[in-house]
Amino acid sequence: MHWRIAILARDPLCRGCERELSRQADHIVPRKPGAEDWSPENGQGLCDSCHSYKTAVEQRDPFFGIRLREEGAKVGEPAPSGWRQLQLFGGDQ
Ligand SMILES: [Zn+2]
Repeated sequence: MHWRIAILARDPLCRGCERELSRQADHIVPRKPGAEDWSPENGQGLCDSCHSYKTAVEQRDPFFGIRLREEGAKVGEPAPSGWRQLQLFGGDQ
């Protein structure tokens, strides 16, 4: 799929941890039926670990992706690089 290839080419290094190579092209704001956002701005390359981590966070916090996009916008990126080290989670873990 072209979108996936474009995202991984742009983000060879995982945006979550900035340590591992990206293996997953992640929709920062998750896909919803009829409301997919396939823009490059909604994509990020993630390693398997960070992709699993984000998926788990989204199970309890459906707005996590939206916060990532907002934080990224502040620095002119789809999502801030190294976001896994940032304190983006409100409330109890
Ligand atoms: Zn990672």
